[in-house]
Amino acid sequence: MLIKMHIPSQYKRYLQSIHDRIELNKHDLYEFQQYQLGYEGELQFYERLLALDICFIWDFQCKQNGWFQNDFLIFSRDKIIHIDVKNFTGIYHYEKGNLIKKGTSVYVDCFSQLNRAHMKLEHILNYLGKQYQVESKLLFINDTFRLNGFMQHEHVYYAHQLDELVSYLARLPKYQRTDIKFAKQLIQHHENDHPKEIIQYYPFEKMNGGIRCPKCNKIGMTAATNSRYVRCDCGATISKKEAFMNMFNEALLIKNEPLKCSELVDFTGLPERTVQRYLTQYANRIGNNRGTYYDGLK
Ligand SMILES: [Zn+2]
Repeated sequence: MLIKMHIPSQYKRYLQSIHDRIELNKHDLYEFQQYQLGYEGELQFYERLLALDICFIWDFQCKQNGWFQNDFLIFSRDKIIHIDVKNFTGIYHYEKGNLIKKGTSVYVDCFSQLNRAHMKLEHILNYLGKQYQVESKLLFINDTFRLNGFMQHEHVYYAHQLDELVSYLARLPKYQRTDIKFAKQLIQHHENDHPKEIIQYYPFEKMNGGIRCPKCNKIGMTAATNSRYVRCDCGATISKKEAFMNMFNEALLIKNEPLKCSELVDFTGLPERTVQRYLTQYANRIGNNRGTYYDGLK
């Protein structure tokens, strides 16, 4: 039973929306790429968990005594299994607690990160008066990942041990109603936006327009004349209405201000008549005539 799904923060959603529409600065590009890579790894694990009869949370972020984040929390009676998923690619070397990527200056201290998240989780459980035992595990989910100089550890799993980990979770004592109740109580303390994530807005008028495919994320879904659908090269097809709704939200997120009809025509590439019809039907209008703007969906 899934209690909470991962939802990208406002900043990450902004990056996803402007990606391929404008050149990102170094910082944003790095954040975007790291996020996407991490997300793909977590998604792969999430899909395995969905197939099990377990009670879990995907992504818990909390500011109780300093920020910490848990990728996955699985509730099983008196135990919470906390799993941190790393989608690192390539060869790393282990040295004094750090993972150093071969041929680069990239190093990550994921063991102390894991310990910190473990301790912080214990703190909040204590604070909420819960007697769960926490077991933290690290999963390196990418099959290209190699770690040299590191002794095998019972709480560290690699891609080839994914089945082993999943079957361990499948064998856990079945969750009870109190687990569901507590998991729901815990997510009341979740904060989806990190205070250090500040959006530096790029100019909306400089963005490349086009309809983004919800399946492959590529920009450039097109509609045949008189068709009610738009389609992508990847084969995905959605209704024009759905495409419009998605693009309206994306444009609003990118501009961070109410939108004009003409801006949406440029942004979506849909005919003005179509955009105007959808706006009248589905969007919340402010102002009149030449000063007409839309600030959200109805
Ligand atoms: Zn596509």
